[in-house]
Amino acid sequence: MKICALVTSLLLLASLCAGCGAVTLPEEDPEGAPLLLPTEYKIRAELNEREHLLSVETEIEYSVPADDLSAVQFMIYPNAYREGHKVVTEDKLSRAYPSAPNYGGAEILSASCDVPITGRDLSEGDLLLTLSLERPLKKGEKLHFKIAENITLANIKHRLGYYDGYYYLSGFYPVVCPFVGGKYLSYEYTPYGDPFRMETACFSLELTLPIGMTSASSAEELHREAQGNTECHYYTAEAAREIAVVASGRLRATQLEHGDTSIFYYAADGSDKERIFSVIEDAMGYFEEIYGDYPYPTYSVVSAPFFESGVEHSGMAVIALDLTFSQKKRTILHETAHQWWYGKVGNDEYLSPWIDEGLAEYSVAAYYLAKGYPAVYREIIRDAEDAYSIRLALKGSEGVRFDLPLPDLAEGYYDRVYAGGLLLFSALSELVGSDPFHAALRDLAESYQGRILTEGELIDSLSLSLNKDYSSLFRAWLTGVVPLQ
Ligand SMILES: [Zn+2]
Repeated sequence: MKICALVTSLLLLASLCAGCGAVTLPEEDPEGAPLLLPTEYKIRAELNEREHLLSVETEIEYSVPADDLSAVQFMIYPNAYREGHKVVTEDKLSRAYPSAPNYGGAEILSASCDVPITGRDLSEGDLLLTLSLERPLKKGEKLHFKIAENITLANIKHRLGYYDGYYYLSGFYPVVCPFVGGKYLSYEYTPYGDPFRMETACFSLELTLPIGMTSASSAEELHREAQGNTECHYYTAEAAREIAVVASGRLRATQLEHGDTSIFYYAADGSDKERIFSVIEDAMGYFEEIYGDYPYPTYSVVSAPFFESGVEHSGMAVIALDLTFSQKKRTILHETAHQWWYGKVGNDEYLSPWIDEGLAEYSVAAYYLAKGYPAVYREIIRDAEDAYSIRLALKGSEGVRFDLPLPDLAEGYYDRVYAGGLLLFSALSELVGSDPFHAALRDLAESYQGRILTEGELIDSLSLSLNKDYSSLFRAWLTGVVPLQ
């Protein structure tokens, strides 16, 4: 589907975060419809290390997305750590939790809005907060919410929690649900994959930590101020998909300038920092060359205990500290590629997880091929072919198709989404040639920067750039009807 130039330019302007940046935009488009500004989160949080508690107050400036709504919905992700939910699969329980599973959650202390709140309801396993308002709203109307919470952190090496002196703080503030197709979307928290649709927003965070704690963040740190036994860190992130922090008294920071980007590496043991920096710089340089500019002013890589090999945030990657160097390298390549495919160009990771995971895996393989390691490239492709074809032999096409939302990919998630996605993109790259393919991906990144890319838009954009309709190739891979040679 083609989007007219006017809408595209308005979306691009909106993605610059006029509501919270220095730029001022008209509040109506030329045809008189209200222009929806990105949501702005102003968060104040304080960590109580002794009690493993986080007190959070979030102010949210929000443009109402449609006429006649009488409620706004928010995801309360800390409640995914409550008893009754599963945030990891059975096989990762012992890696995620230090001993036995334990629980966390959010207590909502207060919620207010400039339009009076008439009802407050938690549903869907306490993940979904609905605030009902006194009167029907108008599209484009600006609302100002203020929500105070006390969050109990679970003892877990996960997106949110603590472990061995490390604090993982992501998704700790209320997130306005995406409004798509005339309704708010809320997704269950699956124990695998990334069950999110992260829309671009603006963030400021004042985070008070015990003095002596170092914090890695997805955002840019403006300054910090000591206040007795605590220190307040001030962060800002514009046109980001989230704001996240990993803090610990064990972490030490090192910094390197890479063009206009400040790269930080945080680790308790920085003995490998030269080698790690060289991987990060090499990865960023290569992805900038093929996909275009890195989208944020800073990039932080933090080595910490973690239940997976790594995780991406917009502007930050966490990598598990117990990996070997070559595993760290693969993980850094994958998570850095997510800065383009997840950060710069978003997708609905619950409905189409293959888009960003397939592109991140393809980027890793392409890096090795371009950097003179064809044997590593072939090994990566062969491993994916083995995983995919074994599953195909056992389960048939239905067992390898990956055009499905996360809950339907419970079995064989990695073989389908990661291996299948990689094989799809590498097959197309080998078919058309890597240079034209990368040019097409660069067009895609420019056209969809700051937005959520759908499956159809991805296929249309690549087909347009490559001057041929590749929808049947995509459809064949997505539904598992492409037999491997
Ligand atoms: Zn990934």
